[in-house]
Amino acid sequence: MLEEKIPDITKYALVTGASRGIGRGIAECLAKEGFHLYLTCRHSRAQLSDLAKTLSAQYGVSCLPVIADMGDPSDVDRLFQQIPSLDVLVNNAGISYIGLLHEMSVDDWKEVMHTNLDSLFYACRLAIPLMLRNHSGKIINISSVWGNVGASMETAYSASKGGVNSLTRALARELAPSGIQVNAIACGVIDTDMNACFSPEDREALRQEIPADRIGQVSEVAQMVLSLLHAPDYLTGQVIGFDGGWM
Ligand code: NAD
Repeated sequence: MLEEKIPDITKYALVTGASRGIGRGIAECLAKEGFHLYLTCRHSRAQLSDLAKTLSAQYGVSCLPVIADMGDPSDVDRLFQQIPSLDVLVNNAGISYIGLLHEMSVDDWKEVMHTNLDSLFYACRLAIPLMLRNHSGKIINISSVWGNVGASMETAYSASKGGVNSLTRALARELAPSGIQVNAIACGVIDTDMNACFSPEDREALRQEIPADRIGQVSEVAQMVLSLLHAPDYLTGQVIGFDGGWM
């Protein structure tokens, strides 16, 4: 018999960058677990609204879609004005940039940093006071293996994710006494539109480098997020490699 999961208490989660890809998969997974959701993305209003409606109808949770540039502090302030309570923050919104560093414009550099790293500061500084009220909370940052080892042609991206990893470790220490856990998932290659720029040949070459012999799936990252939510509170400050044994 199928068992329907009903949470014993009301829990609220914010997932940034939820219109597609990994963020969407995480949103679906959390809705299934009974979380009420705040979902953001930068541009795709219709896609995000459709997702919110579908998840509300399917799982009976409330779901608020908000268009917000997470790299813009005033947008993030406006978002949090609509959030009275928060148990889980998933910092997922991110962009990639592929190209030689010396050919990258200052504006492109700033956009990568604003979106991938500054956004965590803007969201965390407003989420933490909400979590402190309950002396509990989980912050999960979606990072990349490149934040640990660095990728050629993705220097800005690697630097931004390296920042995410350091922020994760430092903030975890700061918040552990307050009952809030901070962890990151450093993904390898996951099958999303972010990788649509790769040719079939590039994808095949990547696959051959990965010991698990395949590219990762969005549902697997979502499952990992769920595992972190269910993990003992003693697990904090970790950057968990999630790459099929690649790095
Ligand atoms: P994606 O491009 O499919 O989706 C990105 C999402 O982020 C979209 O919903 C987009 O609207 C949103 N977004 C982008 N900029 C934003 C902004 N300024 N404000 C708000 N939302 C914004 O990407 P994905 O593959 O699902 O990646 C999600 C996260 O996972 C990113 O942080 C990415 O760096 C990380 N990641 C992905 C891979 C991979 O192989 N796909 C690997 C490692 C890490």
